[in-house]
Amino acid sequence: MRITKLLLLCSILSTLAVAQSSSSSEETPKLQHFDPQQADRSLDPCLDFYKYSCQKWFSANPIPADQVVWGTGSGLNIWNLNVSRETMDLAAAKKSGRSQIEQQVGDYWSACMDEKGIDAAALRDLAPELQRIAAIKDKAGIMDEVAHLHKTLPAAWEGGNNQTNAPLFGFGSSQDLDDASLVILSIDQGGLALPSRDFYIKEDAKSVEIRNKYQAHVRKMFELSGESKEDAAKNADIVMMMETALAKPQMDNVSRRDPKKLNNKFSLEQLQALTPSLNWKRYIELVDAPATHHYIVSSPDFFKALNQLLDEHPLDHWKTYLRWHLLHESAPYLSAAFVDENFNFYGHTLSGTQQLQPRWRRCVRAADRDLGEVLGQAYVARAFPPESKQRVVDLVHDIETALDQDIKSLDWMSPKTKEEALKKRQGVEDKIGYPNKWRDYSSLKITSDSYLHNVHASTAFEFKRQLDKVGKPVDRGEWGMTPPTINAYYDPQLNTINFPAGILQPPYFDKQYDPSVNYGSIGAVIGHEIIHGFDDEGRQFDAAGNLRDWWSADDSKAYDDRGKCIADEYTQDIPEAGPGVKQNGRLTQGEDTADNGGTRLALMALEAALKKEGKSLDDKGDDGWTNRQRFFLSFANSWCDQMRPEALRTLVLTNPHSFPKYRVNNTLANMPEFQQAFGCKKGQPMAHENACRVW
Ligand SMILES: [Zn+2]
Repeated sequence: MRITKLLLLCSILSTLAVAQSSSSSEETPKLQHFDPQQADRSLDPCLDFYKYSCQKWFSANPIPADQVVWGTGSGLNIWNLNVSRETMDLAAAKKSGRSQIEQQVGDYWSACMDEKGIDAAALRDLAPELQRIAAIKDKAGIMDEVAHLHKTLPAAWEGGNNQTNAPLFGFGSSQDLDDASLVILSIDQGGLALPSRDFYIKEDAKSVEIRNKYQAHVRKMFELSGESKEDAAKNADIVMMMETALAKPQMDNVSRRDPKKLNNKFSLEQLQALTPSLNWKRYIELVDAPATHHYIVSSPDFFKALNQLLDEHPLDHWKTYLRWHLLHESAPYLSAAFVDENFNFYGHTLSGTQQLQPRWRRCVRAADRDLGEVLGQAYVARAFPPESKQRVVDLVHDIETALDQDIKSLDWMSPKTKEEALKKRQGVEDKIGYPNKWRDYSSLKITSDSYLHNVHASTAFEFKRQLDKVGKPVDRGEWGMTPPTINAYYDPQLNTINFPAGILQPPYFDKQYDPSVNYGSIGAVIGHEIIHGFDDEGRQFDAAGNLRDWWSADDSKAYDDRGKCIADEYTQDIPEAGPGVKQNGRLTQGEDTADNGGTRLALMALEAALKKEGKSLDDKGDDGWTNRQRFFLSFANSWCDQMRPEALRTLVLTNPHSFPKYRVNNTLANMPEFQQAFGCKKGQPMAHENACRVW
């Protein structure tokens, strides 16, 4: 969505991978189940456990032409899309007596699937939007148009944790960092259509090549909107110049992981003094934002530079820039020519995909964004029975108990800090499957006439919903992901862990699985999210979600030493992403800490659960594997993901999650429990000499 939230929800998966993935098969696929025989026993598990666990699957399941990522969870992804598709098909086919929900879902679907109608109407629907920009008379009008675009178009591309992709800047509501009970307005850097500032600044051959292709793409988009070849080329130069100037003053993605650096409070007068050329009063009036206690400006330096750019560049440059963002963010909802050109750059050049996904899947994904909690109700009814929910609730409790034990047993933490840590852990609220109260979409008007107009209406609805939260009590029950989503997250300011029904399915979870398989897969996911409350970023927040230091100086230093071990370990070359591409361990430190701690918690919880039944980790099953081995095989299996090198390169540069191969191998190479399971010797690749451990 267009909305900016100061802090990123700490999720288990990269949005890049999830947003793009699904298959070319048109039939509802069977859900893939964990199969321990998938391990390649001809390989040495102590050399590369990821290969040992995943290679056979990869060889049998090459990436389909329309996919960025293809892994053991991809079948589930298509299955989930199909469930929503069936809901929409039924609603669209119903001729009379439709409920309001059926009308919204059915008409959204009809408008989106009507490819011929969209081809015919695209320029008609776009024309008034282009005219608005052409009619801007002076620089004051720029802010009016920015307000309009913010209210009408969702971001076309999620760029990791670098910035919002909204034109010029992002605007939304957030919990105050010092007082999480207060919802205020927040303003964030933005304005780029490439995934991050690095894409404009880096000078290596691949970066230059991508920029050249990007510029060609911008030119073609201008041509499609009716500009002459000559004008389009000139305007693409202007866009490149403007976005590069906006990229340079942006806060980098490692700094943005430090909430203290984002915590800059401004009154409206101070904000106006910071950026005299941006008329905030006018913008606030146009987007109808409520009065706020104060504003948080994530990166004041960016806004100072933006102000200067507004003064320096002529109005025509800004009109060109705004026209580009209008075209860019409208492209997925326009005619085939726009859709294809948009895919050509973002799908093919940036992500390496060969072929556009079928229309129905693109429509389901857009509907999930715009009507997610309506479709989610049908998904839950179909895919997440109460028995499954109860089993997951029990799993979460077991893993929370493991963290309590872990905290109590740490030799590097003082009793006082332990007390605070336990208080924070006990304050975590567990949210499983779906919201207790469904979102009310009744004021959202959807018709079967125009896909673009439906997207405009949905964006305006969501923008208003976000702004309406300002000044009101915080709603801890709200969800940041829809029920069919295959992902999970920790929210540091609500202090909640959230597991949508979409990931509580095979291969990640099944109420029929034996405990070692469930704990190795969904158990490690649950542990990952709980540990986010205690990673290098999460540990800076207290039980109430306030940015407050509850650590003694000595404990803090002991933590940082342990965290540095992780950050150094994950700072490594990623040859799979191309020559010279290196992971920055300081960008991925929080996720890597969560992987390491979460997997350990899941194993502790499994051991305790087995003990209750009079069993042990080293008992052998019928298949010849011990429970301990099955746990690690299940863990690795849940991460078998092949990714195209282009997408992997983008991921490494922008995303706080490590490449799945290292999420498995580095985590396990730090665990003596793993080495015990497979007989690995210190110094072998899967048994690091200097093993890191935070939690
Ligand atoms: Zn995470």
